[in-house]
Amino acid sequence: MITWQFISFSIPKGKEARIGSALALIGCEQGLYPPPIPFIPSGLYSFQFRFKLPDPRVHAVLKLAHAEGLSPFERFDEEYTDAELRTYPMLGLGCARASIDEGGPQRGVEYDLSAGCPRCGTGAIQTSPLLVWAGKLPKHRRLCSTHRGHRLIRDDLAEAIIAAGIGGAELRQVRSVGRKALLPWRQILPEFTMPRMSRHSTNLGRDTAPGWGCPVCERDMHVALHRRPLDIAYDRSAVAPETLPDIVQTWECFGRSLLHDDPKRGLIRGFAQPKILVKPRVFELFRELNVKEADFRPVRFV
Ligand SMILES: [Zn+2]
Repeated sequence: MITWQFISFSIPKGKEARIGSALALIGCEQGLYPPPIPFIPSGLYSFQFRFKLPDPRVHAVLKLAHAEGLSPFERFDEEYTDAELRTYPMLGLGCARASIDEGGPQRGVEYDLSAGCPRCGTGAIQTSPLLVWAGKLPKHRRLCSTHRGHRLIRDDLAEAIIAAGIGGAELRQVRSVGRKALLPWRQILPEFTMPRMSRHSTNLGRDTAPGWGCPVCERDMHVALHRRPLDIAYDRSAVAPETLPDIVQTWECFGRSLLHDDPKRGLIRGFAQPKILVKPRVFELFRELNVKEADFRPVRFV
């Protein structure tokens, strides 16, 4: 597994030359944006660089930024080889490309609120097709995610999943906002919800600030902490991976649900969404079909 550390900061006007020289001394001048040739002191500069850890330049860059009174933004990511991913009984399925605007439930997506939290609506069952802006769907990809976290796959990938006998989720046809025309995409709607994640999960948190995380269901507003990838783990005593379908969803939901005491608010903003987890055979099929945008992450059972 490779760990990457992203560091970025803006360089205030007048400090470009000095910070640029210091970055060159550290060996990080290639992170300067725009590149320093031609070096125009009046330009707006920033530093953006991805370090493969361990890298001694990380300490030097952070020290420089702090000495200059700057607030560097740091973020971490992990990269697994396929051989490493194959050692896990389940994998998180994400999309490594930018998410799309699905238009939101105010466009007419229907929910059965009786199944959701009475306060925030998390867990409400979507009873209609998801409506998305047809023009927002990617032209050359087979997997995409909405800003809300719905996972969509193109018809041909859905048909390959069905042909492979992979089960556990309804693959519901997506329709367009407005005319509600059938679109060649399907939404993955897992039928099985996992128990709560293990306390051995790392970087898992929840925003419980007033007005954010719902105090009734405690299911929405889960977040990955420390700007690090979420490491999902389950207790084997709570769930055995061998017994699970090929596609499931997490109990924990991510994002904010806004039903509260006003149903209209929730329907305008939508509901927090779970993450989708899959068995290795889904991973193998996606690799066989070269679905490059699929981002698989380990799920541990402890
Ligand atoms: Zn709730």
